[in-house]
This record gives sequence, structure tokens and C-alpha cells, in this order.
Amino acid sequence: MPLVKPPRLLLLGAPGSGKGTQTTKLLLQFPKINSLSSGDILRNQINSGTSIGLEASKYIKNGKLVPDTTMVRLITKQLHEMDWLDKKAAWLLDGFPRTSNQAVALDNTLHTNNSNINMVVELDVDQKVILERIEARWVHVPSGRVYNLDYNPPRVPFKDDITGEPLSKREDDTAEVFQKRLDQYNKEIGSLKDFYNNKDVLYKVSGSTSDVIFPKLSNLILQNFGV
Ligand code: ATP
Ligand code: MG
Repeated sequence: MPLVKPPRLLLLGAPGSGKGTQTTKLLLQFPKINSLSSGDILRNQINSGTSIGLEASKYIKNGKLVPDTTMVRLITKQLHEMDWLDKKAAWLLDGFPRTSNQAVALDNTLHTNNSNINMVVELDVDQKVILERIEARWVHVPSGRVYNLDYNPPRVPFKDDITGEPLSKREDDTAEVFQKRLDQYNKEIGSLKDFYNNKDVLYKVSGSTSDVIFPKLSNLILQNFGV
């Protein structure tokens, strides 16, 4: 079914809850939607050795958030470059905004262009389940594609399915740093949800695997933006 209204989506969810995996599946089903992952952008900045990458890596490897001003500047620039402020553009954000300061800054930018976020979906996955599977996660940094050696292994071990390039382990996917990222998420998520709940755009889908969550998420999008 085609979409008749442009979705401008934000996926919320704990680290490891499957935002990247859901994004990959959504882009396949809805080719008109474009996506942006703040974590992927930062990892690519780190790999290219830019000054933002150098600054960000200090925070990321300790499981801390990159400062709001840096994030807002980086993402706003991308939004302009990709023409996302056009109110006909259909898009999906993963990982930004993640503090209420970021949410207010983004809302101001989008509001000026009448292109506010029109759906925020919280991926609700039991944090015990997330902790069990995180050590098996490998990523293809240039594209952000995510694999899990147990549930969703690459066709060729440790190689990306599409490009054949090597997969890598995120340096913040260790048990210790991961717990810090979860704590950080739990600290920020309440105020972020309040912010979007007040705008009447907040939804939640629950499940412990991406295969359970995806049909629920896809239906939600079709119900709100389909014919
Ligand atoms: P996952 O990728 O498993 O969903 P995550 O949400 O913790 O987990 P990313 O979104 O990839 O991971 O972010 C990785 C790190 O990059 C964060 O721990 C943080 O240091 C930094 N980061 C990403 N987005 C932001 C943001 N909007 N504000 C501040 N820091 C950010
Ligand atoms: Mg991610």
C-alpha cells in the first residue's frame, strides 16, 4: 500500500533495542522514506578522523552522550543538506533527538518549516533480553547495517551481505560501557516521551525480537500515513 502523507518519524528505544534493524526493514518496505542515524553519522566521522569525530569518540567510548550543541549543529546541517525541511519529505530519525534540549532545538527548526515530527515510536524491548544479545552484535560501519551472530548472522561470517566488506565490533558494545548507555537512556527517556506525548504523536510497540516488532511498526505507519 502506498503512503499518502509523508511520515516524519522518530524511533526511540534503548541501545540494542533494534532501531537500526527496524530502519533497514522499513526502508525496504517504504522506499520513499529516507533515514538518518546519529550514531552512524558519529561513527563515520570517527572513522574519517574529523574534528567532530575526535571529540565524539571520547564520549562514545565511555558510554556518555556527545554534548547537545555539537549534536544539534551536526544534525541540523544534515537536515538542510538533505532537504528534509521540505514538508513533502518523508524521513526517519534514529538516535536524535535523545535529550529534551535536542528535542526542543529540533522542534524549533522543523516548526519554522511546518515539517514537524508526526510520529514517535518507542521500541519497547525487555532490557534483560537486550543485555543477553549485545555481545553478539557486529556492524558494517559505512552503511550502519547491523548483524547478530545468533539471530541474524551475515551470509558469509564477519562480512557485510551487500558489499562483502568486513564487519566490526563497536567499542561501546562491551558489558561495562553498555550498562552505562542503558543507564543514560533510562535517565533521559522519561522527559523525551513527555515532550512528544504532549504533542500527541507518541506510540509504543513491544516485543522481544525484531520479527515480532516489525509488523506492528509497519501497521502503525500504514494506518497513519497510508490510503
Ligand atoms: P543502538 O545503536 O544499539 O540503538 P545506541 O542508541 O546507544 O544504541 P547509537 O545511537 O549508535 O547507539 O549512539 C552511540 C553513541 O553515540 C551514544 O552512546 C552517544 O555517545 C553518541 N550519540 C549518538 N546520538 C547522540 C545524540 N543524539 N546525542 C548525544 N550523543 C549521541
Ligand atoms: Mg543504532
